Amino acid sequence: MSTYKYQRVLLKLSGEALMGDQAFGIDPKVPQRLAEEIKPVWEDGVQVAVVVGGGNIFRGIQGAAAGMDRAQGDNMGMLATVINALSLQDCFERNGMDCRVMSAIEMHQVCETYIRRRAIRHLEKGRIVIFAAGTGNPYFTTDTAAALRACEIGAEVLMKATKVDGIYDADPVTHPEATKFDTITYKEVLARDLKVMDATATALCHDNKMPIMVFDMGQDGVFMSALAGENVGTTVIE
Ligand code: UDP
Repeated sequence: MSTYKYQRVLLKLSGEALMGDQAFGIDPKVPQRLAEEIKPVWEDGVQVAVVVGGGNIFRGIQGAAAGMDRAQGDNMGMLATVINALSLQDCFERNGMDCRVMSAIEMHQVCETYIRRRAIRHLEKGRIVIFAAGTGNPYFTTDTAAALRACEIGAEVLMKATKVDGIYDADPVTHPEATKFDTITYKEVLARDLKVMDATATALCHDNKMPIMVFDMGQDGVFMSALAGENVGTTVIE
């Protein structure tokens, strides 16, 4: 336990990350890899909460682009995150990890409803908590849900898993000369319009001094290294 810098963390996983090499949906290999990454630190007593996105199944903005009512589409997007959360829970439990799903939209036949104090209690009892259905409101994103839940549960850091190993001054895929930041301020992220998280999520973290660590979850052992305080990506701070 003492080897870790953080004792309570919120991990944001995008829905797209669950697709693996598929074009849609969930590649079962991905939840399994995530379980294997998270299990050792969870066993060491680090309290882990997860917010999962839904972009691998549905995004409200895509529905709106096709003529759909935006709020209706966003409701579908939030339900997509519940599907992902249940899939992760199933995998975590098959790996012997205690886990609860808490949804911002009430659906008590399939999972618990989000209640902040209950979520904290689950974490204290050593259960992984997966927050589903985003914030429960249309026009928001699961990045904002991650920022909100991180603040609510008193997480020490919001860890945003991406396909890139940090924040660069330009897209490293199209600009190989791009340089990576070790740290960067919230203000600079917003001023440079760096696509770390959406502006609402970044502003919420800024207002509440919630550090955001951006890293590539694809590297083996990276979650443990990050929690131990190694500089595995970029940290957004004041
Ligand atoms: N969504 C929403 N309110 C929220 C969170 C999510 O309406 O608080 C909807 C929105 O339509 C979004 C979709 O759920 O496009 C999936 O979430 P997101 O796009 O954030 O998932 P990710 O990109 O992380 O896979």
